[in-house]
Amino acid sequence: MGALDLSSLLILQDRDSRCEQFRRQVEQFPRERAEAEEKIKALRSQREKAQTDFQQLEVKRKVLEGEVADAEEKIRRYRTQQLSVKKVDEFEALNHEIAALEKRISETEDAELELLEAIDSGKVTLERVSAEIAEQITLYEHEIARLNEAEVSARTDLKEAEEALESARADIAPSLLDSYTAVRRQVKRGPWVVPVKDSRCQGCHIKVSGDVESEARRGHQIVRCDNCSRIVFWER
Ligand SMILES: [Zn+2]
Repeated sequence: MGALDLSSLLILQDRDSRCEQFRRQVEQFPRERAEAEEKIKALRSQREKAQTDFQQLEVKRKVLEGEVADAEEKIRRYRTQQLSVKKVDEFEALNHEIAALEKRISETEDAELELLEAIDSGKVTLERVSAEIAEQITLYEHEIARLNEAEVSARTDLKEAEEALESARADIAPSLLDSYTAVRRQVKRGPWVVPVKDSRCQGCHIKVSGDVESEARRGHQIVRCDNCSRIVFWER
């Protein structure tokens, strides 16, 4: 038996690893894109919340305005009533009601003034926050566009690498290819064809048996690591 030439197998493995590398890159894109989309979604709801909070201030202001208008209307009614009242104590009772309403109006108007200040500063804050959020959303949208472009290019790289792998596969002896395919199925991560150094398989880094080592050294047939099943060879 002559020496086994593993050079074609090493080329195959090299191209196979390249494919794996591009495939892993391609697989990253959906997750990365989803992350950016999530961030945009969160920013949008943050903006909506800020808008709603601000609108609540306006709603509160309308309520206070309504309360003042109601109290003023009541005062008008009491004053009209006073025109037809005959007894002094009834007249005084209405005066008392009117005074209470006027006090309430004045308190409500104070609250309204405070609210107006809050609305003014709230408006400034809302505009600033909205602009910041819009800026961040734009950054994530650019990130998504960049990911889309990178994905197209990674897919092109993968396609080329797969074609190179197929042509390497066509150049290889069937028995070698069968062994390689079997290892490839068993071992998740490359490399799948590794040298033995200092009696250790350079795939799993565990000492191989004496038989495996001497078979690898002889180099007449395919030898596999008795621990991880990778194809091992002796580096000359
Ligand atoms: Zn091993």
